[in-house]
Amino acid sequence: MRGVALPSEEAAEFWITEGVLTCEPVRDATTVVDGGWLLPGLVDAHTHPGAERPGDPLDGRLLRRHGREHLAAGVTLLRVPGSADRLPAWFGTEPDQPRVVSAGHWLGLPGMFYEGWARQVGQAELAHAAVEEALASGGWCKVYADWVVDEKGLDAPPLSADLLGDLTRRVHAVGGRVAVHAQTAEGARAAVEARVDSLEHGLGLDTALLDRMAEQKTALVPTFTVWATFEEVARVSGSDRFRDWFRSAHARLGPLVAAAYDAGVTVLAGTDSYGTPELPHGTVAGEVRLLATASMPPEAAVGAASWTARSFLGFPGLEPGAPADLVAYDRDPRTDLSVLDSPMRVIHRGRVVR
Ligand SMILES: [Zn+2]
Repeated sequence: MRGVALPSEEAAEFWITEGVLTCEPVRDATTVVDGGWLLPGLVDAHTHPGAERPGDPLDGRLLRRHGREHLAAGVTLLRVPGSADRLPAWFGTEPDQPRVVSAGHWLGLPGMFYEGWARQVGQAELAHAAVEEALASGGWCKVYADWVVDEKGLDAPPLSADLLGDLTRRVHAVGGRVAVHAQTAEGARAAVEARVDSLEHGLGLDTALLDRMAEQKTALVPTFTVWATFEEVARVSGSDRFRDWFRSAHARLGPLVAAAYDAGVTVLAGTDSYGTPELPHGTVAGEVRLLATASMPPEAAVGAASWTARSFLGFPGLEPGAPADLVAYDRDPRTDLSVLDSPMRVIHRGRVVR
């Protein structure tokens, strides 16, 4: 493969041996990319493959199909911050599936998240359950700090910063990381004070907390894609209060993300896709465009779905010894983000996928 590698912008030549990138020429190699732009494989940092409707159990056939949909779009790495159950070991390791960083079963207090979909536990057991999920997933756990899909959610108290802080220390002590769902100002504040690893959504986040997030390396995953579909939920909710809350929170998410990026917060691209017609998988390119619409520089928006996300999740970019997971485009995606919709090549685990 030869082309301009990002983010370094260097003219690069890579070979692949045993699924790994090398700069040492390989005899009789087949050229699979001859010119263009080479990016580390794309990442959707917030997606939920394997079950499409609230309450549905995890379905192996759907999981496989959703994984392939991501991969066809050049997404070679998924972070799945919570699922309807713990993900099976084959998902994320089979040749035709993206790599996966998972967070086990969603964790929430009773009343948080969709009925029957989360592992709901009381406050006293939440930290223990988070440690269990992080150990079982081999990495992350996912906890709901609040849950607002109707007017009722606006009045429910969020998790306390103390509880979330204790939970985070205990998960960190076993080598795990903590993703926290927060839609309200209070939920987001609790997550930041608890020093969690990633804040998912962050609709109501107070911009005064952004410097602290940057300093303690709490990432922000705003998931613009799902909020675009939520306009309809708010419209038909029958609650003026809920609709007005959502519209104003949604309207300030763009400026919030721009301010987060300026403050040095790691902002990542996540779609919150489930595989429904409104939220299909393999659409992280759209999330990149929404990040750019929010005034993130195009290069940073692309990085949020590639090298920045990989680094945050502990995966290398394009370098000798790295897994040969990459995507190639015929034009520079930073100058035209629509280029991301049409990868010229997708290479995963050293094999040509597309
Ligand atoms: Zn989600």
